[in-house]
Amino acid sequence: TKWVYTFGDGKAEGAAGMKNLLGGKGANLAEMSNLGLPVPPGFTITTGVCTYYYANGNAYPPELAAEVDAALAHVGTLAGRRFGDDANPLLVSVRSGARASMPGMMDTVLNLGLNDVTVAAVATAAGDERFAYDSYRRFIQMYSDVVMGIDHHHFEEILQNYKDDNGYSLDTDLIADDWKTVIGKYKAMVETEAGKPFPQDAHEQLWGAIGAVFGSWMNARAITYRRLHDIPESWGTAVNIQAMVFGNMGETSATGVAFTRNPSTGDKRLYGEFLVNAQGEDVVAGIRTPQDLTEVARIEAGSERPSLEAVMPEAFREFVAICDTLEAHYRDMQDVEFTIERGKLWMLQTRSGKRTTKAALKVAVDMCGEGLITRDEAILRIEPGGLDQLLHPTIDPAAERVLVAKGLPASPGAASGEVVFNSEDAVAAKQAGRRVILVRIETSPEDIHGMHAAEGILTTRGGMTSHAAVVARGMGKPCVSGAGSIRVDYAAETLTSGGITLKKGDIVTIDGASGQVLKGRVPMLQPELSGDFAKLMEWADASRRMAVRTNAETPADARVAVRFGAEGIGLSRTEHMFFDEGRIVAVREMILADDEKGRRQALAKLLPMQRADFVELFEIMHGLPVTIRLLDPPLHEFLPKTEEEIAEVAKGLGVHPQKLRERADELHEFNPMLGFRGCRLAINYPEIAEMQARAIFEAAVEAGRKTGRPVVPEVMVPLVAMRQEFDLVKARIDAMAAAVAKEKGTTIDYSVGTMIELPRACLMAGQIAETAEFFSFGTNDLTQTTYGLSRDDAAQFLGPYLQRGILEQDPFVSLDQAGVGELVRIAVERGRAVRPKIKLGICGEHGGDPASIRFCESVGLDYVSCSPFRVPIARLAAAQASI
Ligand code: PEP
Ligand code: MG
Repeated sequence: TKWVYTFGDGKAEGAAGMKNLLGGKGANLAEMSNLGLPVPPGFTITTGVCTYYYANGNAYPPELAAEVDAALAHVGTLAGRRFGDDANPLLVSVRSGARASMPGMMDTVLNLGLNDVTVAAVATAAGDERFAYDSYRRFIQMYSDVVMGIDHHHFEEILQNYKDDNGYSLDTDLIADDWKTVIGKYKAMVETEAGKPFPQDAHEQLWGAIGAVFGSWMNARAITYRRLHDIPESWGTAVNIQAMVFGNMGETSATGVAFTRNPSTGDKRLYGEFLVNAQGEDVVAGIRTPQDLTEVARIEAGSERPSLEAVMPEAFREFVAICDTLEAHYRDMQDVEFTIERGKLWMLQTRSGKRTTKAALKVAVDMCGEGLITRDEAILRIEPGGLDQLLHPTIDPAAERVLVAKGLPASPGAASGEVVFNSEDAVAAKQAGRRVILVRIETSPEDIHGMHAAEGILTTRGGMTSHAAVVARGMGKPCVSGAGSIRVDYAAETLTSGGITLKKGDIVTIDGASGQVLKGRVPMLQPELSGDFAKLMEWADASRRMAVRTNAETPADARVAVRFGAEGIGLSRTEHMFFDEGRIVAVREMILADDEKGRRQALAKLLPMQRADFVELFEIMHGLPVTIRLLDPPLHEFLPKTEEEIAEVAKGLGVHPQKLRERADELHEFNPMLGFRGCRLAINYPEIAEMQARAIFEAAVEAGRKTGRPVVPEVMVPLVAMRQEFDLVKARIDAMAAAVAKEKGTTIDYSVGTMIELPRACLMAGQIAETAEFFSFGTNDLTQTTYGLSRDDAAQFLGPYLQRGILEQDPFVSLDQAGVGELVRIAVERGRAVRPKIKLGICGEHGGDPASIRFCESVGLDYVSCSPFRVPIARLAAAQASI
């Protein structure tokens, strides 16, 4: 096995396609080298070494040391220096690089190879003593922090004390001799804290850094991140070691980051930031506020500080040309890092840029227009779940605003919530069901869980590429970063700006589109679904095979779903209509009735209300198919539970509380999910099914006359296990259809089908299909009954199952394709064998989950049905599944 791959000087042993072995960063460094772009020479230690390391008790492959030495020599030759040499030392950077970019791992050690001797050689070679000692102190701090585990506050304290003692205010006030003194103090402190001196040997330094990268693959933050992003542990990370280039060699040096298009909006304009005389990490760390790359951006931002275009025009032009080359080559928007060392441009990284969904849509539609990608590729570029971001509300332009501060519009959408100042408070509030805005001076990977819990993120420091901005965009959460006028006092838990002070718990609104921070809760508007979104969805609709319906029973839900492109209703849960005010009384009367006659009297009160519900639903759906399910839940769900409720309801109904209590006791079930529910109700109380059927058919006739479009209702029977059950209920429905048709003097077109949500129904699907005209897979109940675990109580033990890797995903969220999916497959086959044209759909929660939708496509379902807000996601996922 080859463990090390070199790159540099227009050649590389790797290439972009080798991400699994070289990690994303390593593969792209190789690719850029192959393209002849200016990349500092270096080499990548493969992810295979990481796997080996963990499989062999943290030991390296025996050949690794020799391969690293050879690669170091090769890099030294290209750079004209030698690693570990006292007189002409090669300095390197060491960075982790997994297949997917992964915050939370050891990130970077710069300037490795510096020690008490080589620092002097570097000073001489650079002709700049201050630069050399500044680099050395940065190296000691970074290395001690990430490799030796010494917290940076130790270093900050030493530096701050030194500055105070000498009357300095800025780091740039320190001259070379100052840094020498500070370095002495740093080294003494490291020796005390670590119990051993700071390593002076370059090879010892290097292997320490390599070990830290591999070790960080298993740190808690990396593990959490992998779990949240479904990244398998087995992937491992690579390590990239590269000759240093310096952005901090004075005023003709700089370092920066850029996106080839705007990652927030997708606009086709170079977008980025840089700092003169700085090292890479300074830009993202948010210690100094960076400058704009282009003149246009600088003017737009109204910034006084000059752009890169103005201060280093030649390097800028070369950089623009390289960005164009990279976009054309990768056929995607790139996120790049660069350094300019004394006027010479070096590329340090390129990768496909993270972007908001809004930007993703614009970039995909634009690139299709530019001829860079096909329509199918454009469709495949959009992550369906991300469409959710577009459904975010925005601040009503007419709303009154009390401006607290203004920062950068780092991630779009608006959100309101209580102010909290740390991630623990954010998580606690979220668990208590409250909405919060996480306010930090700046965020770090330690804040990921808090950012997840928050509705939005506000920072007072850092640019558009700061940690907070990048992570928030990835999460699709609103973020305002760098709101510099805000003073945060962590101890007092307050923020102050422009004479306004907000305490922890006060409500704030952030607008990630404008960067505004507003006092209180501000009214919001629902989003407009046009432009690039509409275009891409049109393409998706044209290339998908499955139809997308919605689960809806209220008029409001149905309207939203139609606006989002639903092509019908796949499940209308009629029981939800029973809970409405004015109805629940009649429902309870029905339940309390002593005989059929009493029940029919109560049902007669429900009939007009239920009919009106259906008329409205049919009208909204305007001729699109509507599936209405007969009553499903056990009757006790409609009765009061506590003594207080019982007393109150009894009074309202005019019955004795004792009677209510007795009926509730009679209806009590040990396991209601497997109890007196579904078609078992319709078989034992046929009058309930009859009332519902009458309401459906009368409504169909009425809505058909009103809209001028025939309504063809699909009546659905829940929880069928046997064909006989279905047949009994179907006979009642058919009889009612005939009766209503006769009464109205018309014919009624309709179909009767069943939920397939029990394992027996899947197995007996052939028999059931003899009489059922459609199947709708109720994968919620099917998952529950296949696993034998209750969907209401599962959270308690599913959590630990997920953490321990027993389950990869919650089977109630993403369909268990191997088990539950096998039952679906069997039912599809057996159903179709008997009735080739049988209509097949899914209406469990899985109908809105992209991975489950892919499965539905693979077994050839006719449609998926999901909650209204997931309809766009399902439309796109269905298209991707059929490409
Ligand atoms: C199902 O079981 O998947 C289903 C859609 O029905 P409900 O969630 O109402 O039980
Ligand atoms: Mg069900």
